[in-house]
Amino acid sequence: MQPVTYRGRFAPSPNGPLHFGSLVAATASYLDARAHQGEWWIRIDDIDPPRVVPGATDAILRTLEGFGFQWHGVVFQSQRHALYQAAFEQLDVYPCYCSRREVFTRDPSGSYHGFCRMHSPLRRHKPPAWRLRLPYAADQFHDLIQGLQQCNCHHAPGEFVLKRADGVWGYHLACAVDEIEMGITHVIRGADLLYASFAQRQVIHGLKRPPPAYGHHPLVLNREGIKLSKRARAQPIDPKQASRQLWHALDVLGQQPPAELKSAPMQTLWQWAIQHYHRAAIPPVQARTYDFGTA
Ligand SMILES: [Zn+2]
Repeated sequence: MQPVTYRGRFAPSPNGPLHFGSLVAATASYLDARAHQGEWWIRIDDIDPPRVVPGATDAILRTLEGFGFQWHGVVFQSQRHALYQAAFEQLDVYPCYCSRREVFTRDPSGSYHGFCRMHSPLRRHKPPAWRLRLPYAADQFHDLIQGLQQCNCHHAPGEFVLKRADGVWGYHLACAVDEIEMGITHVIRGADLLYASFAQRQVIHGLKRPPPAYGHHPLVLNREGIKLSKRARAQPIDPKQASRQLWHALDVLGQQPPAELKSAPMQTLWQWAIQHYHRAAIPPVQARTYDFGTA
């Protein structure tokens, strides 16, 4: 793709309908792109076939359309194996024969600290997973929303899997390769992916490419303090209530939309939101409790 000064993306997983948490993520990346005259792309994270729900991709795109989002194009991870393979061959990887149980016994967080790299693998009769030898340990970057972020990457995320034993590409490999191959300049997404950004920066560094800028917006928690997710059975969003739900998404993102816009036509709300978008108004916190059901 041609280089541009701003290209953003939203990368939903096709494993169910979009919920309010997904709407906040889509809105944050879309507004940031539109307010900077940038492009906004959709990438369908359908790399793990058993997790793909038939029809979910169409439903997601129809819902986004119903909410007035406009995108430059749609990319499917399932069609990008050749790119992932080419990147994998350039990276410093090693085989790992550990079971999930062994990994979690050594570190309850599941972070991997190079066991099979340091102990020459006991050649077990099964295909290995492939892990990345981290190019560097200490990392830091300036998050566009949360400010300075630092990590000791050996501690976490650790040496993560790039290719699973069953041949499926690891999330960090696919995501990192997509950012650079799509020419993504800005990744705006939820704060639950902060550590994913550290992992993906390692992959991008290993490929000797410049990383995009990252910004992590607060996650939405329900009244019980649980993150809205498909697993927690968050309510699907409904284009019939687009204005009201979009208004709440803007409110979560600290944009202070005027109350009278809650019932305005969706296009009016978008126009206001793009014109008044203020990145610095997004609360620099990892999560926010928000009760939009009764608000
Ligand atoms: Zn291992």
